[in-house]
Amino acid sequence: MKEENAALDPGARAAAEQKARKAARDASRKTGAEETTAEKGAIAPPWERGAEGIELVDTHAHIDGEDFDGDREEMLDRAKAAGVVAVVTFGDTMESSARCVALASSHEAVFAGVGVHPENAFPLSQAEEDRLAAWTKEKNVVAIGEIGLDYYWEKDEEKRALQRKMFSRQLALARDLDLPVCIHDREAHGDLMTILKTEGRKNRGVIHCFSGSWEMAKELLKLGWYIGIDGPLTYKNAAKLPEIVEKMPADRLLVETDCPYLSPLPYRGKRNEPAYVRITAERAAQIRGESIEALAAQTTKNARMVYGL
Ligand SMILES: [Zn+2]
Repeated sequence: MKEENAALDPGARAAAEQKARKAARDASRKTGAEETTAEKGAIAPPWERGAEGIELVDTHAHIDGEDFDGDREEMLDRAKAAGVVAVVTFGDTMESSARCVALASSHEAVFAGVGVHPENAFPLSQAEEDRLAAWTKEKNVVAIGEIGLDYYWEKDEEKRALQRKMFSRQLALARDLDLPVCIHDREAHGDLMTILKTEGRKNRGVIHCFSGSWEMAKELLKLGWYIGIDGPLTYKNAAKLPEIVEKMPADRLLVETDCPYLSPLPYRGKRNEPAYVRITAERAAQIRGESIEALAAQTTKNARMVYGL
């Protein structure tokens, strides 16, 4: 793969590598399919269970991609029927950011973030940075994201350095524009905290799909960050997540899907979609000893606060 790509220009090479990573990620998404079958109980999908008194926001989705090309409008209808009043969809490349902006402008309940994901890091030109800034003036565009650090997929030190550079630049852009950011952090907790405590001190926003410890969560809360929780909360190997959800101050908790990835049980291994945020919210409510209605109301209030929906 590497040698084959060496002949390509940087842009084409980045695209080829991105494609390889997507394939690996799709494959890893499929693991857990056995658990799906075993866990499939009698519970109907969220959109068939009524949503009276439930108002949720899926605060982190990727609904612009080809996974939803066959049924995007139906998928949004199902979300609405499940009580999801808004979806925030994030770009992970320039191309997907453009698609997210278009979706936000054509759908009242869809909001967008624009940015370049660390897995797709490349040396951003001034023209591209200007384009990101211009997109934030469009209808329902509310954040810079998804940005951050991913040391799980990226083992190369030089490319990790490029990720940090891209992250810093996009944090600075968000400060200039006075917008919140949505941050991805996978196996990069140390560098992330260093950046947030220094140059990121004046940024605000969400650490999405949180995967750190309660100690790290406490530090983030002290710095003013919101924390997003996803489908893995429902997994048997949810590790520290239930403890974190239990201890989280109510006014900083967000629920999200990160669809099409990370489906909650009993859909693990299948395509995720915004309606399933209700399943993660129900599990969070159960852990916190609250009603789904109360947890939905609080997390939706938080979503409106951080993203200004
Ligand atoms: Zn994401």
